[in-house]
Amino acid sequence: MKVFINKIIPERGYRMLEEAGIAYTVWKEKPILDRGQAIQFCKGHDAFLSAGQSGMDADFFDQCRHLKVVALHSVGFDGVDIAAATKMGIPIGNTPNVLNKATAETALLLMLTVARRALYHHRRIKKGAWGIAKPTEGLGFDLAGKTLGIVGLGRIGAELAKICSRSWGMNILYYNRGRNDAAEKAYGARRVSLETLLQESDVVSVHTALTDETREMFGLEQFKQMKSSAIFINTARGGVHKEADLIKALDQKIIWGAGLDVTNPEPMQPDNPLLDMDNAVVFPHIGSATRETRDEMTRCAVENIIAGLKGEQIPYPVNPEVYQGS
Ligand code: NAP
Repeated sequence: MKVFINKIIPERGYRMLEEAGIAYTVWKEKPILDRGQAIQFCKGHDAFLSAGQSGMDADFFDQCRHLKVVALHSVGFDGVDIAAATKMGIPIGNTPNVLNKATAETALLLMLTVARRALYHHRRIKKGAWGIAKPTEGLGFDLAGKTLGIVGLGRIGAELAKICSRSWGMNILYYNRGRNDAAEKAYGARRVSLETLLQESDVVSVHTALTDETREMFGLEQFKQMKSSAIFINTARGGVHKEADLIKALDQKIIWGAGLDVTNPEPMQPDNPLLDMDNAVVFPHIGSATRETRDEMTRCAVENIIAGLKGEQIPYPVNPEVYQGS
């Protein structure tokens, strides 16, 4: 049994595979593999551990129908045609829960950075413009006691609700298709319409998956409904907001600021206007990028590979329906 791994992963993953007697090939070169090369590698292996691979569409799974399991090194699976994989009987695994804390903390870091205008002040020092402190200049705002609107109160959204309600005494509003009773009970979160959330929140933070329903959910119309003093945060997927509209909203001060961990496309080009705006902060998709979290994500991914290759039900399936009737 052999697994193909398309990027270097933490050491723990290789040790787990060796202990399980599973051989592996790791693509260590730059640039990353294109779709055709990934298919060729997959053809010579029984399983695929993917730390990000474009083009995992119906044709990909048609050509790789022999795969016993595909383990994603992420919780998001928007780039994967899950229905096509299920049709081929291929279980797809992801890494839920282990990255909740790191990703929620990234959202919080963006919130604080934008609210306190941290990047603007850093740039001011670099320009030699520290000057003399004045009581009314360069002010940000407190998060304490403010209202946080969470769009997509799932695993990561609930972690953010916990931190912000307990540590900052923030009021939590949320917008989901269904109810999150546990978060309502634990953090006093209140389910409202998207319109109400946009109108009442001081910070709007997005934590939905990228789907046909959520793609470009945030455009000028939504930014115009937000308070002019509010912040927009996106640590979910760049496709959830319209970048040109966000630039306009920030430029025209329709909203006060924005913090992004995700962009569309990725990587963002260095000449993107958002990078020069004093009211915007952009991170290069580092939501889960801590040593501890990446280690745990690797554990989940490799557990999925080992179980899949043994013919057992994988522990973190995205498409559990693949086992129906087996
Ligand atoms: P999750 O537990 O599935 O939560 C997603 C939430 O979004 C659910 O509460 C869901 O509730 C809500 N939702 C889905 N569709 C919606 C819609 N059309 N309108 C309103 N709400 C909707 O997922 P998670 O583990 O928290 O992860 C969320 C996303 O974060 C991932 O899919 C991934 O893209 C992103 N992420 C990014 C990073 C990073 O590095 N920046 C790291 C990890 C994850 P309902 O079903 O009730 O609507």
